[in-house]
Amino acid sequence: MKKVPPFKLVPQPLSDDAASFPKFKWAPPEVGTRHQLGGEPSFLQKAIKPKCAECGKEMTFYGQLDSINDDICLADCGMIYVFVCFDCFTVNSFIQSH
Ligand SMILES: [Zn+2]
Repeated sequence: MKKVPPFKLVPQPLSDDAASFPKFKWAPPEVGTRHQLGGEPSFLQKAIKPKCAECGKEMTFYGQLDSINDDICLADCGMIYVFVCFDCFTVNSFIQSH
């Protein structure tokens, strides 16, 4: 199974609206900064290693996307996890939150 080395992703605003987007009021400081490409997922619930729905092979962790602020919050400060099958390019994504 292919592995992607870890990269921290840091969002950069692409518009004035994005630049003035309010931050979380109450969430712990790391919430909103956990965007990542590759490496190992930081699961908020139990670890999941999805199998490809098309070919059945173990999928590669491609990245995770964090909640953004109190308005754009994935459940309870959750994250989206994305897995890819590099054999048939099927994607599996899901949300976990506290
Ligand atoms: Zn596959």
